[in-house]
Amino acid sequence: MEKRITITKKGWRWWRSGHPWLYRDDLLPGQSAAPGDIVAVQDEQGRFLGQALYSATSRIALRFLTGSPDPVDRVFWGARLSRAVAYRRRVVQDTDAFRLVYAEADGFPGLIVDSYNGNLVMQVHHPGMARLLPDLVDLLHQQVQPASITLRNDSEVRRLEGLPLEVEVISGHLPEPLIVREGPVQFLVDVRQGQKTGLFLDQRENRRDASVWAQGDVLDCFSYQGGFALHAARLARRVVAVEASAFSLAVAQENARLNGVDKVEWVQANCFDFLKEAQAAGQTFDMIILDPPAFAKSRGDRPAGQKGYLDLNRRALHLLKPGGILITCSCSYNLAAEAFLEVLRQAARESRRQVRLVECRGAARDHPVLLALPESSYLKCFFGMAL
Ligand code: SAH
Repeated sequence: MEKRITITKKGWRWWRSGHPWLYRDDLLPGQSAAPGDIVAVQDEQGRFLGQALYSATSRIALRFLTGSPDPVDRVFWGARLSRAVAYRRRVVQDTDAFRLVYAEADGFPGLIVDSYNGNLVMQVHHPGMARLLPDLVDLLHQQVQPASITLRNDSEVRRLEGLPLEVEVISGHLPEPLIVREGPVQFLVDVRQGQKTGLFLDQRENRRDASVWAQGDVLDCFSYQGGFALHAARLARRVVAVEASAFSLAVAQENARLNGVDKVEWVQANCFDFLKEAQAAGQTFDMIILDPPAFAKSRGDRPAGQKGYLDLNRRALHLLKPGGILITCSCSYNLAAEAFLEVLRQAARESRRQVRLVECRGAARDHPVLLALPESSYLKCFFGMAL
């Protein structure tokens, strides 16, 4: 077998807890391997613990692959990929836009593959996956016959791994415009420049199930390209969608035309200001969606992040009619579900509303959470009814 890396006693205890990452200071000093190597991991007594992907530069030195000593080869990866594909066949319905491979949760540390109407978009965040790329592309061709494959490798995390930033179509022909379907709604997808790999696929089931509650006047805050707004428009009388980015709003308007929807008012504004002004103007809504970007990106941001969520939710609750529905989300990993609920309790108290929790939700089922990796559980989405 390949190179062996010995971990400290503290590292061993962490490893035993089941978490699939080991940090550099959990390795005995003076050891190294090449970036992206598959290494055998052992304890200080030389006992084999498993195999892991090695990173030479990131704080996360090892990412666990398997507890078995069997070769990690093309057959190994092919079997993992076919499990990921089979899982999506079971859980993804009524859409042609979904996540096919979700990093550690599918046994591919540092790899994301999203599928948009048969066009794959890959994000490679680890040198081990970068090395595997030619094999992965072959395996994807064998197992899902993609129309095209685009590398969306422009995320800053690649720099931490010493990988270059690049966006490139590496196989087939990428249709432009690319249109996908999410239930009854169609969306344009810009896989080269859109946020994430084009759409916020993790919110797909929340968009679908939130729309069931839509009626009367709906407010969609942080609308991006109209995700929640266009779903809600099917049952609402009127929708107001607020988004700061002019570019995203322009795409949202094209999406509205694509779906023949003309009841959405698109507003370019900062949502905090919008909510304040709407309250001053005495506006009210039957449903409000809050899907902001992560306010607590690091542990240090947590207090400021909590305040952001508090302000937002308090202002939204002021605008809700009695019996109105609040769809409120946080994608901050650093704010756990219980802490987010506490913020919502405070927002309800400060706005003098009683709120009934109707549903507690997370990301769509094609984004499963790996229990041992709390980092993969970041999205919280609560449906509440304000009494
Ligand atoms: N709900 C969307 C995804 C929202 S992503 C969907 O389902 O597709 C968050 C969006 O908030 C981004 O488009 C970002 O441009 C926008 N944004 C960030 N800060 C904002 C602010 N203060 N006011 C309005 N929009 C903001």
